[in-house]
Amino acid sequence: MSPSLYNTLTRRKEPFKPLDPVNVRMYVCGPTVYDFAHIGNARPVIVFDVLFRLLRHVYGAAHVTYVRNITDVDDKINARAAERHPDLAPEAGIRTLTDVTVAQFHRDIRALGVLEPTVEPRATEHIPEMVALCERLVERGHAYVAEGHVLFDVSSMVDYGKLSNRSIEEMEAGARVEVAPYKKGPMDFVLWKPSKAGEPGWPSPCGIAAPGRPGWHIECSAMSEKHLGQVFDIHGGGIDLAFPHHENEIAQSRCAHGTPMMAQVWMHNGFLQVEGEKMSKSLGNFITINELVATRRFGGSQWHGRVVRLAMLGTHYRQPIDWTVDKLAQARNMLRDVARLLHGSAIGPAEPNPEVVAALSDDLNTPKAISILHGIMKSAARNPAARDEFVATLALLGVYGGESVEALDPGLADRSIDRAEVERLITARLAARKAKDFKESDRIRDRLSAMGIQLKDAKDPKTGDIVTTWEVKG
Ligand code: AMP
Ligand code: ZN
Repeated sequence: MSPSLYNTLTRRKEPFKPLDPVNVRMYVCGPTVYDFAHIGNARPVIVFDVLFRLLRHVYGAAHVTYVRNITDVDDKINARAAERHPDLAPEAGIRTLTDVTVAQFHRDIRALGVLEPTVEPRATEHIPEMVALCERLVERGHAYVAEGHVLFDVSSMVDYGKLSNRSIEEMEAGARVEVAPYKKGPMDFVLWKPSKAGEPGWPSPCGIAAPGRPGWHIECSAMSEKHLGQVFDIHGGGIDLAFPHHENEIAQSRCAHGTPMMAQVWMHNGFLQVEGEKMSKSLGNFITINELVATRRFGGSQWHGRVVRLAMLGTHYRQPIDWTVDKLAQARNMLRDVARLLHGSAIGPAEPNPEVVAALSDDLNTPKAISILHGIMKSAARNPAARDEFVATLALLGVYGGESVEALDPGLADRSIDRAEVERLITARLAARKAKDFKESDRIRDRLSAMGIQLKDAKDPKTGDIVTTWEVKG
């Protein structure tokens, strides 16, 4: 079944048709690496990981290319590197800061059960491609050089503003940016700028003598072209990126290549706030992924990464999300039930539940997928085939990946249950009952009870046979 996805560009949910079904291509704007990633940054990472898993399921894992970049050149990075590594040369300080931050980012999102993207390009490793794009845009009359800068000429593109649905006049009226005197038009944006002392610099394009560095938007145009081609399927990021970042990526890529589009589908996740307020350092509610999973700072508890992920997926990706302790506690309860259900059982390969696949295929309806999971949990407890399907479905959402279930519910380690033994005893008890050996059947029931297992007998209305189900007590 082909998914349908909401496209910010057309403001509609549309059936998704890949340009090339044997190579479905997706680009998502990744982090700017100068500090710990916060829980808002985790949202696009988790949301687009679910989409990546769904696309792999639908088109085959070998037929999906997912690029998520690292922005490792930026004003905030320069400032933080100078502050943290005053003894190092700027380039070395920046590399040290960004390497440490990228390693931490990887640790954080691995805890959230996020798959590695196919390619994770770093901006600083794609400078020649950015330089080439600047030159191409100038050659084609879409950009100009002024005072060591290369600027995109917004008036050269007739449909600039289509993604954010705003005309240039509206944008100019709403703009609060101070207009640099060298700009031809107030909305013209920087493709390349001169490097100041202490900033990293590279040889500049278009005959500019002084070294310079790229603007933010050109990075994504260059990296997506290099790894996915001039036109690809899906481009994603947080809703704050739609304007100006994505609008400007579209302008650069389409005008440089003379193409009618950059990506077919533009997807944006809604914003995250914490306990009803915008997350900010000054309000003291700024929370990093690392603090959630490794400290007791939020709600007095340490939260397992899969719990964080499940809590995030409880809200549809396009809705704003209010990040609360309550949501995390609910997700933890569900994963505890899952852990109890899976404890001690051998899991076989299976396809995920088709209703969940359908819910995800409907513009990633994760809240519906989770409520279906709740509904099928009971039958998964009874029936090994349903259990295998249940686990494959959890894996499609990335909320469980086959790790030890004691990690999801540490209490389980003390209540170790041998599932195969439980099932063997239940079969023996049913056989004893059939043979009317009630003494033996009661003995087995008591033994199971001592193991912490509660039995429930019910009559199958069709066959009249007794069917026994079980659960872990309390
Ligand atoms: P940045 O490192 O600021 O460039 O952001 C990386 C990604 O996180 C982008 O896709 C942003 O849109 C997203 N993002 C940042 N803050 C939030 C938030 N509070 N809620 C949801 N997404 C966010
Ligand atoms: Zn980007």
